[in-house]
Amino acid sequence: MEIAIVEVSENGKRISCRSGCGACCSQLVPVSKAEATTLLDLVESMPDERQAEVRSRFAKSMAVLDETGLLGELDKAALAHDKERIKAIGLAYFELNLPCPFLQNQSCSIHPHRPLSCREFLVVSDPAYCAKPDPAVVENVVLPKRVSSILYTLSSKDPDMDAGFIPLVKLLADAASIRIGQPTPAPAMEWVNRFLQRLSS
Ligand code: SF4
Repeated sequence: MEIAIVEVSENGKRISCRSGCGACCSQLVPVSKAEATTLLDLVESMPDERQAEVRSRFAKSMAVLDETGLLGELDKAALAHDKERIKAIGLAYFELNLPCPFLQNQSCSIHPHRPLSCREFLVVSDPAYCAKPDPAVVENVVLPKRVSSILYTLSSKDPDMDAGFIPLVKLLADAASIRIGQPTPAPAMEWVNRFLQRLSS
């Protein structure tokens, strides 16, 4: 990420992302299974009132997703590992303009814990364009490697086996399967080595 940011400034551009701009926070955010567990812990540790508010926001978004039929579409596409279909559903989701349940006053209320895919989404174009992403006008910062995509494969010993991601909006609805579907525990160094091998491959 740092390398990409340095490159941006060497090319005479500036990162447009700023605190208080939540223009991109209505996307279908992909979250790795490991991150999903951490986010579940985070929600469960919130004070009752805040937790109830966050849970209600998730429930409202899920209801809209269900009503529009996108939820069923998303589940089918995820089961089939159909990346093109998931991409199309992602665009349709964005059109629904559902703010992330963690977005508060246009800022991320879980900023230190936000998913990697949120951290990796940086633009140098006018932030106004992010509210209606069009590849013709939104200029993303190109990262040499997307660490988030490595995390999706990490629970599998086979680097080509994409264990998939959880759309952030489904975090609470899928809580039980996220908790059950944790990978077999392994020594920390095994995880670190697997991660570094995939990062350098
Ligand atoms: S987790 Fe935070 S940064 Fe990511 S979409 Fe939600 S509000 Fe935005």
